Amino acid sequence: MKKECEIVQDLLFGYQDGTLHKASEELVEKHLKECEECKKVFAEMIKDKEDKSKQKQEIDYLKNVKRKMSKKNKLIVIIGIFLFIIILFNIGIFAYYYHEAGKVEIYLDDDITEEQLDEIRNTILGIDNNAKFEYYSKEDALNQMKEKFKDNGDLLSGYGGENNPLNAYIVVDTSIENVRRIVNLEESLHGVKKIINVLDTNPYLFIFSKAMIEIQNN
Ligand SMILES: [Zn+2]
Repeated sequence: MKKECEIVQDLLFGYQDGTLHKASEELVEKHLKECEECKKVFAEMIKDKEDKSKQKQEIDYLKNVKRKMSKKNKLIVIIGIFLFIIILFNIGIFAYYYHEAGKVEIYLDDDITEEQLDEIRNTILGIDNNAKFEYYSKEDALNQMKEKFKDNGDLLSGYGGENNPLNAYIVVDTSIENVRRIVNLEESLHGVKKIINVLDTNPYLFIFSKAMIEIQNN
């Protein structure tokens, strides 16, 4: 290698960075025009630098994509957990609702006997041995009605004692699956006027009202 080539090649890095003195810069430029060998070395240096910066860009890009992906994955996992909790919550509500919300009212004939009342209870217990009964007499029914219409003052004031058009009734708490079966007993049970399904139709409201009753009782 010629002496001048050695000097110029030593200066090429500085030349590339633009940090050479004016005189050295002119020397390099002049030499590069004349020397194919040094021109080639310089061209390779430039190519190298470009490749490296390209590589860095690609790496940065990949890092960025990876970061975005992991953010996205986290979001998906969080949404997944959230949905899972909502689904569990709803399964719980509907299971509870299905088990607890069944309710029927059995309206009784005025001349029903104790034996017939027992028969009604036993028949229903045969369907659901966890069924709960609450008996309301004719008088209870009338009082409830008066309470309901108390704003309308004297609407029901003429009724009472012997003069009571309402029926005694039993409220049966059961599970929803048994409601239909109990309602279907209407024809076959003695002393029964009517059996009505008074199902709470909204599971959320049903559980809300149950919770409210619990809170009030505590
Ligand atoms: Zn040279």
